[in-house]
Amino acid sequence: MQLLYSLRGAVWILVYLLFILAPLFALLAGSHAPTRDFWTEFSVALGYSGLAMMGLQFGLTARFRYVTEPWGEDVIYHFHRQISLVAVGLVVAHPVILVIVQPELLALSNMLEAPLSAHLALLSIFSVIALVVTALWRATLNLKYETWHFTHIVLAVVAITAGVVHMVGSSFYLADPWKQSLWIGLTIFWIGLLLYVRIVKPLVMLRRPYRVSETRQERGETTTLVMQPEGHPGFHFSPGQFGWLTVWGSPFKITAHPFSFSSSAAAKGGGVEMSIRNLGDFTKEIQRVPVGKRVYLDGPYGAFTIGNPADMHVLIAGGVGVTPMMSMIRTLADRGDKRPVILLYGSKDRESITFREELELLEARLDLTVVHVLANPPAGWTGEQGFINAEMFKRHLPPPYSDHEYFICGPGVMMDAIEKALAEMGVPMAKYHSERYSFV
Ligand SMILES: Cc1cc2nc3c(=O)[nH]c(=O)nc-3n(C[C@H](O)[C@H](O)[C@H](O)COP(=O)(O)OP(=O)(O)OC[C@H]3O[C@@H](n4cnc5c(N)ncnc54)[C@H](O)[C@@H]3O)c2cc1C
Repeated sequence: MQLLYSLRGAVWILVYLLFILAPLFALLAGSHAPTRDFWTEFSVALGYSGLAMMGLQFGLTARFRYVTEPWGEDVIYHFHRQISLVAVGLVVAHPVILVIVQPELLALSNMLEAPLSAHLALLSIFSVIALVVTALWRATLNLKYETWHFTHIVLAVVAITAGVVHMVGSSFYLADPWKQSLWIGLTIFWIGLLLYVRIVKPLVMLRRPYRVSETRQERGETTTLVMQPEGHPGFHFSPGQFGWLTVWGSPFKITAHPFSFSSSAAAKGGGVEMSIRNLGDFTKEIQRVPVGKRVYLDGPYGAFTIGNPADMHVLIAGGVGVTPMMSMIRTLADRGDKRPVILLYGSKDRESITFREELELLEARLDLTVVHVLANPPAGWTGEQGFINAEMFKRHLPPPYSDHEYFICGPGVMMDAIEKALAEMGVPMAKYHSERYSFV
């Protein structure tokens, strides 16, 4: 399975490179414009590559399950973020180099006299800069997630459309009609990806709604939504995976929210549960969701899932990061799996330990050991306290540590510290899996 994923991953990387580089090489085929100096040619090549990379960003965020599976959605989103910096760097480097080698081009900054193509170039560049600034400093700019998301899509479409029209308008390399068609075709493909995400997929989801059949208040300001498929069989998920939830409004709404499935993947009937902690605008409303409410789910996604045989599964959760672990434990219990499982579970205090009582019952149903780690323990607490660290692993796990398979989910700082501790204990990266609850 792992080998298959690696092969699929390699194929997708090749496809990605092909989409980025092929349009560039295609420009070299057919009739050529007279050669210009190296730096002019180089800057044009940077502009073309940057634009091709930006267009493919629509593919990275289109949530194609088959494509994202080998890595997991969070890795794809982080790649989307990092590669966009490269793309924007290339797009901005293009005019900067041009102006350095041909200072007379600065005259184009006189917008009244500049040709339309120059206007479009500027529009494209300002849009990509705005894209990066709003993505990197969303919190500092105090932008609501939903507002930012909408602006992000509009800016991306403007940047790419203006960039392509500028390129075709400049037509130095695109004099051949087939080369123009290639780039126009590519643009239609990129916009098609966006339409797929924003129109086709929502239409499919509209025909596959879910109905909230129960809501449960859990410890730690968390609400569990129990959802049943309505008029369709639902989907199968692997324990640890997540879905995108839309509660208020239709699937055409720009922003859906990602949540891990907390229920057993072995449950029959297609019903799923998500356990949601009150952390912001959307999540604070979850406790008010009435039974009977129609909701929409897009899923399952993610590669954070048990499957590989291991002598022991070590689940490390902080706060609401326990939800995917709960799905794993419930699934193992339902499957009668007798492999040893240890859950190291960090919570604020004893009262806010989500699923505390159920975990006690589950300890009797499978070979499960739960180690609670409390930041603020009550008087007389003899268990672990503070934050999960390497010393705790050594106290509770049998060596050799590299034999176990580790799953980590919780606040970013906790995950960084644990990944570092595992590396220091000689656990290879292939043996631990992380699910980060922040894509942005
Ligand atoms: C793979 C994954 C699984 C998750 N599973 C769970 C879970 O099981 N239980 C749980 O309580 N939480 C889970 N989360 C976190 C949850 O998605 C966010 O807490 C929630 O979307 C915040 O929305 P808000 O409007 O209430 O908070 P806000 O205050 O608006 O947002 C808080 C932060 O959450 C992030 N965020 C907000 N909206 C979105 C969005 N639509 N998509 C992506 N990120 C967003 C942003 O970084 C934002 O700054 C998960 C996140 C991810 C990525």
